[in-house]
Amino acid sequence: MNTKEVFEQVSDMEEQIGQLYQQLGDLKIHLSELLEENHRLAHENHHLRQRLDQSIEEESERDDSTTNQKRAIENIGEGYDNLARLYEEGFHICNVHFGSPRQNEDCLFCLSFLNKTKE
Ligand SMILES: [Zn+2]
Repeated sequence: MNTKEVFEQVSDMEEQIGQLYQQLGDLKIHLSELLEENHRLAHENHHLRQRLDQSIEEESERDDSTTNQKRAIENIGEGYDNLARLYEEGFHICNVHFGSPRQNEDCLFCLSFLNKTKE
């Protein structure tokens, strides 16, 4: 190997090292982009998860209010039954004589109240 060949090899290596160094720089840029994107996606994921939890919560609250409405309707039915029973047992349920004994007479106020409540 003469001096010229050695020089050429050294300058080839120098060129290769220069290319490798540039590739390393590109990889570093790419890596930092990936890290940034990863950070952004993690943030977005966290945000979406919160939104999801929130809407699941809202949905279960909506279910609760539907259940409450059903329960309220049932209570109205129960209330009517209780009033009807009270009337059957001989007491006024009308606002005119409420709670006082009917003395075995039908009361028009009570009856109209019962009919009104039933509808
Ligand atoms: Zn009455």
